[in-house]
Amino acid sequence: MNDPADAEVTHVPERSPSSILMPLLDVRNLTVDYTTPEGARLRAIEDVSFTLERGQALGIVGESGCGKTTAMMALMRLLPAAGRVSGGQVLFDGDDMLELTAAEFRRRRWLDMAMVFQGAMNALNPVRTVGDQIREAIVTHLAWPRDQVERRVGELLDLVGIPPWRAVQYPHQYSGGMRQRAMIAMALACKPQLLVADEPTTALDVMIQAQIINLLDRLRRDLDLALIIVTHDLGVVAEACQQVLVMYGGQVAEYGPVEHVFTDPRHPYTERLLRAFPDIGGGRELQSIPGTPPRLSDLPSGCRFHPRCPLAVERCRSETPALRPVGRDQMAACHLA
Ligand code: SF4
Repeated sequence: MNDPADAEVTHVPERSPSSILMPLLDVRNLTVDYTTPEGARLRAIEDVSFTLERGQALGIVGESGCGKTTAMMALMRLLPAAGRVSGGQVLFDGDDMLELTAAEFRRRRWLDMAMVFQGAMNALNPVRTVGDQIREAIVTHLAWPRDQVERRVGELLDLVGIPPWRAVQYPHQYSGGMRQRAMIAMALACKPQLLVADEPTTALDVMIQAQIINLLDRLRRDLDLALIIVTHDLGVVAEACQQVLVMYGGQVAEYGPVEHVFTDPRHPYTERLLRAFPDIGGGRELQSIPGTPPRLSDLPSGCRFHPRCPLAVERCRSETPALRPVGRDQMAACHLA
């Protein structure tokens, strides 16, 4: 895991005054293709665009296979070998992250942006103490003196609500919620400005889910952290996010402030998703969405939601709707929005 090329940084860089004026993250038309073993090219996500300010949280929602995780893996330049970014820009603090060399990006991935992966709490090494694993995350990227590293391990555990003395314990001595907290602490080791959490509450019971969401929300506010939460749970977004990006079939279906999108959804897919969460959807009757999301190898023509959309008209079958403004700060990709 240690890469000497990475362990050159002794301090976390300050922000330049000009960078405070621009969004921290500006993703423009991000497009990712996969190549199958047979050589076929499949478009996994297409023209995904959004911005994120410091201290704000964006929820990315949609059913499994809609491209949420692919978009984040592209953002973090962690796509599998078969995938590649075939278009778009990822501007972070004004720099196009897709233009950096692999070594430059690897260093910035921990200093500027970090990710807690889905199921990460099960990825802790069972034969090493939690403190040791957090320590490694620090010394791999920051050439700090030993006492500073030790202080930081304690600070990080404290930050996520784990008593620092528990640094000497092993993962099996932690509950599931504590292991998830430890993974969040590790991701924050180098004080990134952006944290991406992929399904951070999956496999946790309801009480612990609420604690993790509260923790992420507190970290966002206390550290002025930009946060992206990838989830299929709209309740998590309602609790912890200011913006929401709804994805369907690898494209953005709707995007905007949570308070607008959840109270006045303008895309039929968003509206259907909300109906599957009656607590958020205004007490409406619980309804699942008939049918299944499209396979990448068999994407429908026109609007990708048309085979499942109760409002579809002839135009929807042939013409792809563009993402366009449909209200204050709200955008939707629907001919009828
Ligand atoms: Fe439904 Fe047509 Fe809108 Fe697509 S464009 S969501 S099919 S109404």
